[in-house]
Amino acid sequence: MKTKINSTTAASATNPMKCPICNKTMIEIVYGVPNSELWKKAKQKKAFIGGCCVFEHSPRFHCYNCRKSFSEDLKTSIDENDDWLLLCD
Ligand SMILES: [Zn+2]
Repeated sequence: MKTKINSTTAASATNPMKCPICNKTMIEIVYGVPNSELWKKAKQKKAFIGGCCVFEHSPRFHCYNCRKSFSEDLKTSIDENDDWLLLCD
């Protein structure tokens, strides 16, 4: 019987950000023009498309449970959802 050593992937090595409200794992917001892979991920709620423009105060993390986006230090949050994704089908 072979023992499989699970190599740690980059994704699991990074500490997932937890939502300060519901404590669920948040997703990093991706900025820029989304490619087809990002669209797919966004529809599976594995990514959040922040849009083409990134500003100094643009949020970094998104909680799909609360539908809120948080700044990097989690001190500020804005209501944001990806309902518009459904319109793009
Ligand atoms: Zn939450």
